[in-house]
This record gives sequence, C-alpha cells and structure tokens, in this order.
Amino acid sequence: MAPITKHFDCLVIGGGSGGIAFCRRAAQRGAKVALVNRGGYGTCVNVGCVPKKLMWYTAEMAEKIREALGYGFRVNKMGNFDWNAFKSKRDAYISRLNGIYEKNLRSDKVEIVKGTATFVSAKEVEVDLEDGTDKQYLSADHVVIAVGTVCVLLEVVNQAGGYPTLPKDIPGAEYGIDSDGFFDLKHQPRRVALVGAGYIAVEFAGVFNSLESETHLFIRKDNFLRTFDPMLSESLQQVYRENGIHIHTRAKAFEKVEKTEAGLTIHYEDGNGKGTIQVDCLVWAIGRTSFTKPLKLHKTGVQVDEQGNIKVDDFQNTNVNGIYALGDVAGKALLTPVAIAAGRKLGDRLFGGELFSTSKLEYENIPSVVFSHPEIGSIGLTEPEARDKYGAENIKIYTSTFTAMYYSMLEHKQPTKYKLVCAEKDEKIVGLHIFGMGSAEILQGFGVAVKMGATKADFDKCVAIHPTSAEELVTMK
Ligand code: FAD
Ligand code: NDP
Repeated sequence: MAPITKHFDCLVIGGGSGGIAFCRRAAQRGAKVALVNRGGYGTCVNVGCVPKKLMWYTAEMAEKIREALGYGFRVNKMGNFDWNAFKSKRDAYISRLNGIYEKNLRSDKVEIVKGTATFVSAKEVEVDLEDGTDKQYLSADHVVIAVGTVCVLLEVVNQAGGYPTLPKDIPGAEYGIDSDGFFDLKHQPRRVALVGAGYIAVEFAGVFNSLESETHLFIRKDNFLRTFDPMLSESLQQVYRENGIHIHTRAKAFEKVEKTEAGLTIHYEDGNGKGTIQVDCLVWAIGRTSFTKPLKLHKTGVQVDEQGNIKVDDFQNTNVNGIYALGDVAGKALLTPVAIAAGRKLGDRLFGGELFSTSKLEYENIPSVVFSHPEIGSIGLTEPEARDKYGAENIKIYTSTFTAMYYSMLEHKQPTKYKLVCAEKDEKIVGLHIFGMGSAEILQGFGVAVKMGATKADFDKCVAIHPTSAEELVTMK
C-alpha cells in the first residue's frame, strides 16, 4: 500500500443526505473533514425524492387538467405530455442542485474527494479517483460510513456478488429496469408493469396511471404498503383499482419475460391464474439493500446484520471504536430527513463539546408520506401495533371518512379518510393516519403535535380552519 497522503479529524464515505449533513455540521464545529463520494451527491437529489416529486407534480397536473372541466374550463383532454422535454428540464434542475451542494460543502471547507473508497484498515481508506489519476490514501481519527442503499436487482448481484435477489432466477428479468432506470426513461411507456409493494412501486404506479399509461402492479400478497395502517393500504388499493390500475394480487414470480418487436411479453401467475401481458416497460421495485460489500468492511471488523445493514447503537456507533454509520446503510427508516437528522446529531456529538455529548436522533414518531394519488401520511403506531402495545381495551380509535369539498364540482370523487389512534385514559395520540389530497403538507404540522405528546383533548382545543379537510382532525367524535 502507498503511504497515507492525508490525515483528517473525520473522514466521511458517501456524500448523500446523511454524509453531507454530517460533514457540514462537523466542519462548522471546527473539525477538519474529508468527504469521499462516488458520482452525484446521493440518492435523494439524483434518483430519489427530488426527481420523484417532480414526476408526482406532473401526474397531479395531469389530474387537475382532467378535472378542470368540472370547474368550468373548456378542456376535455389531458393534452400531450412531452416526457422527454420535461426530463431535460428536470435533469437540468438536478444538475443545479448538485452544484449547490458542492458549493455549500466547499464554503464549509470540507475537502471533497471524488471517487470510491475502500477500507485498507479501520481508519484508513484507499480512494479510486473518478478522474483516473493515482489512488489516494486517507486516514482519520473518526470514520463515518454513509454509503446508502441501492436497488435490489441483478446489477447488485453482478457487481457485489452474493446479494440474495429473486428476479435473477426469472428468465428475461434483465429486460426490466429499477428506479434508477425509471429516471433515465426518455419516453413515456404506454404500457407498464411494476413489481413490488412498497413506497416506490406504489408511487411510480400512481404517476404512470395519472399520465394515462396502462399500468399493471404485481404484488405478492393481498395488499401493498403492508407496514402502514390497514385503513391506508386498503383505501389506497381500492382507489388505485377504481382509477384504473390493474393490481395483480398474490402474484408469483414471473415464469419468464420475453423481448419482442412489440415490447416485453410477461408470463405471470397471480391469484386469478396464469396470464400474459404485453408492456413497453417493466420496473422492479422490490426493495433496496445496503451497498456495503465493496467497502471491504472485513478489514475494519465492523459488523453487519443479515440484510447487510451496518449494526449501530442509538448513537450511530458501530461495534468498532471511532467508526460510525448513518442514513440508509444503518437500515432504519430509510428516509432523507432521517439521514440528515442523524448526520447533524452525530456531528454535534463528536465536535460540539460537552453540551452535545448525548446528542442522538430519536427514531420514534417519524412522520412519513407516500406520494401516491392521493397521498397518504402516517406517524406513530398503526392500529394493530397500538393494540399489541397497549391492549385492545386501552386504545380508542377515531375515524372520519368524507368527500373533500374540492370534489363537489366533479363527477369523479375520491374519499378522504382520517384515523386517530389514542391510548389510555388521557387519550394520548399514539398514531395518526391520513389519506387524501394534501396529506403530505397536512402531516408535517400534526407530526409536531404528536411528537410533543398531544392528546385528543389538545386536538379538540384547537379551533378548526374552515373550509379545509384537515379541520376534521380537530373535530372528530
Ligand atoms: P444516499 O443518499 O444513497 O448517499 C450515499 C452516497 O454514497 C451516494 O452518493 C453513493 O454514490 C456514495 N457511495 C456509496 N458507496 C461509496 C463508496 N464506496 N465510496 C464513496 N462513495 C460511495 N426519502 C424521503 O424522505 N422522501 C422521499 O420522497 C423519498 N423518495 C425516494 C424515491 C426513490 C425512488 C428512492 C430510491 C428513495 C427515496 N427516498 C425518499 C429515500 C432517500 O432517498 C434515502 O433515504 C436517502 O437518500 C438516504 O441518504 P443516505 O445519505 O443514507 O444515502
Ligand atoms: P420497500 O421496502 O418500501 O418495499 C419493497 C416491497 O416489495 C417489500 O416490502 C415487499 O412487500 C415487496 N417485495 C420484496 N421482494 C419482492 C419480490 N421478490 N417480489 C415481489 N415483491 C417483493 O422498498 P422500496 O424499494 O419501495 O423503497 C425503499 C425505501 O426507500 C422505502 O422503504 C422508503 O424508506 C424509501 N422511500 C421513501 C419514499 C417516501 O418517503 N415517500 C419514497 C420511495 C422510497 P411484500 O412483503 O408486501 O410483498
């Protein structure tokens, strides 16, 4: 090995949401920090939240155009959505955001090393530089691993070796794309099949369907989004069906996927038996996996769990002194704000002095939203989880189902559904689940209240804002 070229207080591997947040906080607190990052600055901005939300806006707009007729506008057709023109604008915005991230890092005096890091020992890494120049060897007192996750797909097996995936056994599975591939699509596929039952499959299905692509969603069980409160997953599934999405429940692994002149032919079997469909695009969205193998963690002694996530304690410490992990790679609540918050807390703890010596992220009551059509939002315990925790006799459920005023002018109506899960005598709100237009924006404020320990009586004390949908949350009987 070549001699170590530079030593830092802290070395961060991975410049996504978590890594960047840590770097900036640590550097602002006076630490000498280096960031090694491969490619763009993380999943969220490049192939995650940001381009996804822009696609969600396009889908929302398509719906509003269709609905405008009901409000007296003389439009009766969605019009031609120019996917590729929109993609160019979207890509340009993302490129600008990457530039802003880099500028912020530089102004905080973080040393940026563009390349791929591999451990040579616990506190030393080798960096394969993106520009092809000689490898760099860096060391630090503290090392933070924030390498995120990658889509579970064939490439993972090929590049890293050994990650268990199901599609690899399906002949023709490689004709499908993953969520990164979705953002590369230059044209709107007219017929799409998606496999998966989590956030990504449900969000992408909503986008394609709203943009009027024929959309097939293959799920293994009876419901998608099974970790959410049943009210949310069941209601959304019903609305998705009513809105025209073909949901294939109890789907088995495809028999095969064939490429023909007309597109892809999928031979499937679901709860209704065997069938064949023709699509232009197949999207695998069956989860993400921590991308730790290329790091050569065995050189450090850092432990991973069965899924390959790095094991950490409440303070993001791994089992090796001075090595930390945060964000998706730690396998808990794979969300951008979680990675950012964990990064900032760790930066405070390591370099913020005595005042911050116990700084850590609380993983309870993290609000989360699925950008479906309509959106769903959730914080705290689901009804079944609350029953298990408090006992059925100690919880009280409040629900409200109504049609938002927006739909009063429209023939095609969608329900709005809210649920409060309250526990014990004081009716503390331990779960809040909302389904309907505007849920993402509504949830943030209510999340603060739940996090502060609000009770049903506290909600009732807040005067409603009228006319809104959210007012139902403070007037439930
Ligand atoms: P990442 O952002 O993945 O960053 C990891 C970085 O490490 C990458 O830049 C990678 O190239 C780099 N890296 C990896 N290995 C090495 C190495 N050996 N050397 C150097 N660099 C390396 N979350 C939300 O909160 N809201 C959403 O709406 C949302 N939508 C999403 C939509 C999609 C399609 C996807 C895929 C994810 C979405 N997420 C969303 C999740 C969110 O993107 C992640 O939780 C978040 O990006 C995790 O941040 P991170 O810092 O842990 O990892
Ligand atoms: P998820 O873990 O959310 O969902 C994947 C689901 O696919 C599994 O839960 C499983 O559901 C199903 N599945 C797994 N393996 C197979 C298989 N072999 N065949 C068919 N179905 C399978 O993963 P995603 O990829 O959707 O998203 C990754 C993470 O990114 C999310 O967990 C979330 O934390 C984050 N994210 C957040 C978003 C947001 O905040 N709005 C948006 C997008 C992503 P089942 O067991 O029911 O079959």
